Amino acid sequence: MVLEPIPRRRLSSEVAKDVESGVRFRYRSIRTPRARAILQVQHQISRACRRFLDSKGFMEVLAPIIGPVTDPGIRGAGTVVVPFYGKMYVLMTSMILYKQMAMASYPRVYSFSPNVRLEPSASKSTGRHLAEFYQLDLEMANTSCDEVMALGDRLLYEAINSVHKECKTQLEQLGRTLHLPPRHLPRITFTEALKILADEGFDLDPKAEIPWIAEHHLSLFFNTPFWITDYPYTSRGFFYLVDDDRPGVVRSMDLLLPEGYGEISSGGEREYTVEGVTRRMRETGDDPQKYGWYIDMLEEGIPPSAGFGIGMERLTRYICGIPHIWECSPFPKVPGIP
Ligand code: ASP
Ligand code: MG
Repeated sequence: MVLEPIPRRRLSSEVAKDVESGVRFRYRSIRTPRARAILQVQHQISRACRRFLDSKGFMEVLAPIIGPVTDPGIRGAGTVVVPFYGKMYVLMTSMILYKQMAMASYPRVYSFSPNVRLEPSASKSTGRHLAEFYQLDLEMANTSCDEVMALGDRLLYEAINSVHKECKTQLEQLGRTLHLPPRHLPRITFTEALKILADEGFDLDPKAEIPWIAEHHLSLFFNTPFWITDYPYTSRGFFYLVDDDRPGVVRSMDLLLPEGYGEISSGGEREYTVEGVTRRMRETGDDPQKYGWYIDMLEEGIPPSAGFGIGMERLTRYICGIPHIWECSPFPKVPGIP
């Protein structure tokens, strides 16, 4: 049985305009036809991604929620600490370290992984930050950035194409005209991205990540999703592999959505040796002592690998054409809104 909106009180369009009340009164907005359409599209996206990855020989693994360590490379967002039998654990900011462990068991793995990142309150109004979100995280042994980007091209195509085919009514209801992406997405380097942005008047630090406002601007130049490759090592976490031929560059990429939607995915090839990781940790200021099981695992040896994580709510937001991402989470947690 499908519930209809609670009569009167608040119209969904009013709720959508106002993030705070939308989040607070989610038990109302979730009953609206608009919310239902978004959630149905989201379900279709997950189905298509699962189907595609399964057909490529991937195994789905259940993602961790807490652990003694998590991804530190989260662009300044805070981590939630929870007591765990006399130790302090953290909520996953990304399962990167755990994906590497799972991939040592089976060469192609993916998870729909819950992440919590305490982004600054100001990111409430970016339209694309949630404090709790899901990533479709995948990892492949013995592969390269090029190959995972090619896989990402196909994955995105399959997800968008399946919504295009199966969710016509929902897209119509949301007023979204969806274009299929090309089979091979354009790729630009980090340096090229900075050059485009410099021409637009952005004076950016060539050693840091591209700030979200500049990413937003860059994404207005494109009418298809596109990759940015070759990030400076100073802008990325210790788990990304430094390019042998180009010191200072890591084999790491982001996938950006067009129309101003901005970043949807980060990924790359991994450091996988103790020497490589501890060298990178010295550069990033992380303490190897803190990463107990991870360093022990590397000492025993894991295969080289590459992978990425795609923000599921961000993908839903783009596919549905939604102004603020809170509507793309059934139970939204927005930075700055307790
Ligand atoms: N999941 C990682 C992140 O959240 C990306 C990756 O797989 O490299 O940034
Ligand atoms: Mg990222």
